[in-house]
Amino acid sequence: MTDPETVEQVARLVRNAERILVFTGAGISTGSGIPDFRGPQGVWKRKQPVYFQDFVASVEARTEHWDQKLEGYEAFRDAKPNAAHEALVAIERAGKLHLLVTQNIDGLHHAAGHDPDRVVELHGTNRAVECIRCGHVIEEIGPIFERFRETRTPPRCERETAGGGLCGGLLKTATISFGQAMPEEPMRRSLQAAEEADLVIAIGSTLSVQPAALVPKVAAEHAPYVIINRGETDQDALATVRVEDDAVSFLPRVVQAALE
Ligand SMILES: [Zn+2]
Repeated sequence: MTDPETVEQVARLVRNAERILVFTGAGISTGSGIPDFRGPQGVWKRKQPVYFQDFVASVEARTEHWDQKLEGYEAFRDAKPNAAHEALVAIERAGKLHLLVTQNIDGLHHAAGHDPDRVVELHGTNRAVECIRCGHVIEEIGPIFERFRETRTPPRCERETAGGGLCGGLLKTATISFGQAMPEEPMRRSLQAAEEADLVIAIGSTLSVQPAALVPKVAAEHAPYVIINRGETDQDALATVRVEDDAVSFLPRVVQAALE
């Protein structure tokens, strides 16, 4: 367990801050039963990710995409926010959260009760399905997975077009696939928040995935930087305070010391 002096050191930074940028990765959600896709047991150790251009080009790749998503579907659906997610909501309610930027696609920050406007999901979300032709977003995803499980046919968009027909575009989980361009707006918002932040806290990320890891790095150029992670990160040398601990055990102690 991290020593009380370090808890107090981070609590003091939180107490003195007014515009905190929080950046999260898979490590914050492992305590909620979400598998770390890059970790030793991760799905990518066993399977190749489906690249976007293959998804568009071939029905086999689309079937593989939906198979992989189906494998994780129940774990994602049943996962609940943990004490670390809840601690970040407490920071927001204290009026100190400027923006929460996450690499995670599990939707647990939203589920924890954040103001949706304060959360940016850089890599999209598994909790919605999107038509890659018309942009239609479907949040009730259970029936789509059930139908795929039964028919093994990758789903298509059934939105009615102005002409009275159905769109028919390819449906995909609302995540950013390998080979798929990241939407510009979430990254632009995140970098702007990084410029404005007066404290940056990175949690549960190896800070190795680009361009996402640029977000805390930009903030760290002018603001104190706290990194909480089990295992080395690519930005350890930039940290004001480096905490080798699980966010689930560390963050609630910080929030209690800082806000109560
Ligand atoms: Zn469509």
